[in-house]
Amino acid sequence: MIIRAVPRRRLLQGAASLCFAPSFLRFALAADVPRFALGIASGQPQPSGMVLWTRITGADLPDQIEVTWELARDDAFKQIAARGVETAQAAWAHSVHAEPSGLEPGRRYWYRFTAMGQQSPAGRTATAPAADANASLNFAIASCQRWDAGHFAAWRHMAQEDLDVVMFLGDYIYEYSSRPDVIRRHEGLVANTLDSYRARYATYKSDPALQAAHASAPWLLVWDDHEVDNDYANLQSQTLEVNFEQRRAAAYQAYWEHMPFPKSARPRGADMRITGRLDWGSLARIHLLDDRQYRDPQACPKAGRGGAATVMQKACAELTDPKRTLLGFEQEQWLANGWDSTRPWNLVAQQTLMARYSWRDPSNGDGLYWTDGWDGYSASRNRLLGTVSDKKLKGVVVLGGDVHSNYVADLKANFDDDKSPVVATEFCGTSITSTALPQDRINAARRFNPHVHYGRGDQRGYMRFALDAKQLQVQLRVLDDVMNINSNISTAAQFRVEAARPGAMPV
Ligand code: FE
Ligand code: CA
Repeated sequence: MIIRAVPRRRLLQGAASLCFAPSFLRFALAADVPRFALGIASGQPQPSGMVLWTRITGADLPDQIEVTWELARDDAFKQIAARGVETAQAAWAHSVHAEPSGLEPGRRYWYRFTAMGQQSPAGRTATAPAADANASLNFAIASCQRWDAGHFAAWRHMAQEDLDVVMFLGDYIYEYSSRPDVIRRHEGLVANTLDSYRARYATYKSDPALQAAHASAPWLLVWDDHEVDNDYANLQSQTLEVNFEQRRAAAYQAYWEHMPFPKSARPRGADMRITGRLDWGSLARIHLLDDRQYRDPQACPKAGRGGAATVMQKACAELTDPKRTLLGFEQEQWLANGWDSTRPWNLVAQQTLMARYSWRDPSNGDGLYWTDGWDGYSASRNRLLGTVSDKKLKGVVVLGGDVHSNYVADLKANFDDDKSPVVATEFCGTSITSTALPQDRINAARRFNPHVHYGRGDQRGYMRFALDAKQLQVQLRVLDDVMNINSNISTAAQFRVEAARPGAMPV
């Protein structure tokens, strides 16, 4: 990390004018302690602004720290578009969530922070296009970056892509402790308190490749389970632990503290709203869903436990129970009311594989399903895709992660009927590092799921998309070796979707 010292004269003037000279000078003298060791980030691009994030680091920080941010039209910071001061507070891990406003739509900007005598590296960000602007959208999706499963080489390549937006679709951290024989270890035991979640984010965010990816473009983020606890559902943990509400509150607080979300998203107790919507010019409406916070518990769990299982449809009537929901009925309704029929595309950024994936021949009701994903909440899925069908929307594209595999699929209003039309297209991207099921198990089930065009659990990387009014082009970017910090990346497969016709076509 490069840290440029602020010239001493400017520092003293600043200190004198801002009336907190004693502590400011005292800490400024500790110039060898990096104050931006976790990098910077931006997110939530809007036509007139975005969120700029950092967190001040170092031991024995004062309760409150003044942090100056600058936003420029050029990477040399000659044309400053906006500037402000935020107070980083110990109660929120000295995180900064600055929200410049009144900016030009559809434009790139550069930003940086100054605090305690140090200047952060600069990052590139952007505003969204105006709602009526002709626009294109270059973006990538990524998920599941388990620290101890490999290196973040994928992020180094992502930072080199010329992207308008990065969408991160969950499992930013993993709460687990690490085995001793892994490539790099999580520090400490399982994260389950505010301090241990904060420490876990600090470990992940120390990675220079991840920092570079954050600094390269604004991000849109949703979480999945591992930001809190594997397979949690609403207020139920996998092990049915008591006081899980407190744990969720701690996890959500640490999440907000480390992500470029606005101040308005700051959690209240164990609640934090990440559900959101963004219009990208006249091109696309992006819906961001939360499938963890409001869901019903997984169907037919193992005795005495919560969390996922793999169950026969015949043995688990709950799987198809219309009273169960993955999104919560309120969020389902919010989505049903929010589809955009005026723009060619609706992008649904959410956590996990939506396409049905039966692990056995599903004819005669003999399907075998994993209960944590959409297959465990098929009535919820049918309602969502039924609405897409009823409204005759054509350009609906579902984006996901969670399953640590590249899946490309056609989404049908009824997966059990071969003649049911394709109503939407799905790109579920593989993990940055996390490992998946053996490829032979995925292959063995492919013939039971003819709507799935591509399924690879042995690939690590991300998906890159180029969207215009006519088509979506997709590249599956795959690392040679996730254990090699300098791994090359290449395109393993390409697909395209036409705005007027749902369904993925190989290129
Ligand atoms: Fe994961
Ligand atoms: Ca997950």
